[in-house]
Amino acid sequence: MSVSRHENDSEESLIEAFETTLSIRPSTTDYYDEINDISIDHTVLPDTTINDTRDLSSTVGIEELEENERISEQIPKFKTKRRYSLLPRITEFKKIGSPGLEEYYIQQKLDPKYDEILRPSLLIDEKLIKYHHTFSDFISSNPHISRESPRFQFDSEKTLVILSPYSSEHSFGRKWVTKTYLSTIFERPQRLLATCIGVASAITMYPFYYKLINSTKRSSIFSSHVRKIHGRNWPKKLFELCLESHEKLNNDELEVPQDWNTGDIYLTPKTINAIEGVIGTIETAVDALFKVTPITGTTSTTGIAETVQAPAPASGKAATATASSTSSTSSSSSTKTTTTTTTAATTATTATTSTSSNGSLSSNYNENNTTSHRRKNHNLAFVVIRPPGHHSHACLPSGFCLLNNVQIGIEYAFEKYGVTHCAILDIDLHHGDGSQDICWERAGFTGDYGQQEEDEIIDPKLNPRDDYGKRFATYPKVGYFSLHDIKSYPTELGFATKENIRNASTCIMDHDLNIWNVHLQAWNNEDEFYKHYQTKYVAILNRANQFLNNCKKQYEEENQEYLAQLAKYNKMISTKPHLSAELEKPTPPPCYKPLIIISAGFDASEYENPQMQRHGINVPTSFYSTFTQDVVKLAKLQTNGKVISFLEGGYSDGALTTGVFSHLIGLTNDDGLLWNHTWGSEQVVKELIKGCKKNWTPYKNPKTDITIWANEVIKLGRSMMPNCILPANYIYKDQSQENNREGMVRTQEIDRDGKFRVVNKMVKDIMDTKGGIGILESPKSRKDEGLNDRADGHRVTRHTRSYYKRV
Ligand SMILES: [Zn+2]
Repeated sequence: MSVSRHENDSEESLIEAFETTLSIRPSTTDYYDEINDISIDHTVLPDTTINDTRDLSSTVGIEELEENERISEQIPKFKTKRRYSLLPRITEFKKIGSPGLEEYYIQQKLDPKYDEILRPSLLIDEKLIKYHHTFSDFISSNPHISRESPRFQFDSEKTLVILSPYSSEHSFGRKWVTKTYLSTIFERPQRLLATCIGVASAITMYPFYYKLINSTKRSSIFSSHVRKIHGRNWPKKLFELCLESHEKLNNDELEVPQDWNTGDIYLTPKTINAIEGVIGTIETAVDALFKVTPITGTTSTTGIAETVQAPAPASGKAATATASSTSSTSSSSSTKTTTTTTTAATTATTATTSTSSNGSLSSNYNENNTTSHRRKNHNLAFVVIRPPGHHSHACLPSGFCLLNNVQIGIEYAFEKYGVTHCAILDIDLHHGDGSQDICWERAGFTGDYGQQEEDEIIDPKLNPRDDYGKRFATYPKVGYFSLHDIKSYPTELGFATKENIRNASTCIMDHDLNIWNVHLQAWNNEDEFYKHYQTKYVAILNRANQFLNNCKKQYEEENQEYLAQLAKYNKMISTKPHLSAELEKPTPPPCYKPLIIISAGFDASEYENPQMQRHGINVPTSFYSTFTQDVVKLAKLQTNGKVISFLEGGYSDGALTTGVFSHLIGLTNDDGLLWNHTWGSEQVVKELIKGCKKNWTPYKNPKTDITIWANEVIKLGRSMMPNCILPANYIYKDQSQENNREGMVRTQEIDRDGKFRVVNKMVKDIMDTKGGIGILESPKSRKDEGLNDRADGHRVTRHTRSYYKRV
């Protein structure tokens, strides 16, 4: 790879070199003058001279940084056994058994007190109406795209992008904090907007390689697949804290326990909506890959607001069909207590186990999938969810993560579809200590912050521990393979412990553990970076390959053994039928059904904020496409091409827009689609991050290829999730108190139940499809309102410098 980075490329030559795969013409939408935006920008471009889009007045000054550091040093250190302080006392718990939890939960949700508080934002565009309009406009302005782009008949050929509109419901709610403090909240709802602009970038390049849907499914935090990962107590504790946060935030009190890292973890009642949406979206993604759907008719039970976005080539018009199902709170199968180890796997998979004499794998793990079914299922999916999950241990929230999303997804895939093996490939800047810890638990050991015996939903009698604390490994078998910066959280100097450094450096492929950790290295140019990639980083792919190969081999051996025994049994039965009552029929081994999951964090990007990425260790934007393409190749070898990628970290607008763009170029079924290095250039980043500002307006007369393209990309991206177009200093506020806010033009509309409800102008603009796709009109700035430090000197933990607090 002979890509020279930054230094030799003048702005002009890059603009000239910028190529879209299809020349893109401006769409017909009206343009507005560009105006200044007060948003705080987390992206830092290497060359500050072109970084003129930043509002310097709102960045954090040295003095403030020092002040913050001084304050953070005064914060008392955590107690070492902080895990126990997170959990309700056991006696408390025992009053409420597992079925009781579900009842408790439903009861709480029905409490009229919470009805108004938990009502989702009116800005949620469930059916992606605004997006479909914008996409149609884009296509009709560019009829050559319809003519020239390849089309795909089957979903199996398209990459599914799943948005989770409820994810933006999780936002910071401490209204008393300073603006400076707010600027240090990295994990914001607006990350979704930057991600959407990254998605839109890929869609404009290859419009028909992707299918975009919203998942409006909401699933219970007490679902069995959540409780298998997190035990009984943590979901309950989290749920209660969210509900209680309403009163606490209104009283200007801290809503999370004092001994938590209060700078990273925040909650509001609406965090419940986000979590339920995340769990529902995870399920939607797994369903999209494995659900056996009828050959005719549209998917209707998965909570998918589905769209067919390919316009009919003959008419040249965008045919946009939508079908959606209502959002529902699934109570799922949480009262079901299928438990433990191999028996559960056998139950889940016996039905699909092949008894064919050749014992071939392919016939086995596709047993339930006819060719037509396979074509209807997607193979590749990218899931846009937040908060992220990979730091979350079974019973400890950490580093913005409340629940471990990927492990929940794997558990759901196992429970529902008998997926027995999964390789997690984690490319976030930070080590996914939570995901790895849960792998130790799956291998039969006690997790560092894992479930205690009384916390577990499995019966320890069925799978007791030996004298050294190990028991049989349980299904699904999960391998964890991570590439990360060993200097960053959780092993940041000053916070690092012997244990967490060891954890983030563990390499083992035995004792039911399949864990491989590789540390990122510094680089000066892309040649050097790709030398690291080819010699060191590729180890995580090789080890994942080894893990899946071993599992496949083991299955094959067990299956051969089974088939031999079965043949023997059948022979005995036919020759000596009188013995049939005494002979035990051999049981088939658990079916081999593998999956690859990517923990897709983009905070290792060259465009991440240095406050997040403090050690100068990063990856070029092209890495995301190269690596992803290699994962897809691995999946074709190992998992019938099945890969689900979940959004983890990535906090600056620049890192997210370009990282997601590059990742999605790699996440197609087509290894001929190559990433063009000019797509990750500073000029492109500079344009895309403008689109992440609340008050963005398109260029009136875009002249260069980049600005014409960026106009279209940003319009598309912003249309995907209007509910995350928020000011960077957005703070959650109780809706019932919002009604009389200044600057909110309110009208009344009749809702489905025939009642009047108040709708603000912003919502009306989105919902009024006849009004075209005009930009959202913003309420007046809430500048500095309620953001001052409290007079009583009560200050909350700040994490400006020490992004994560000592555990
Ligand atoms: Zn991270």
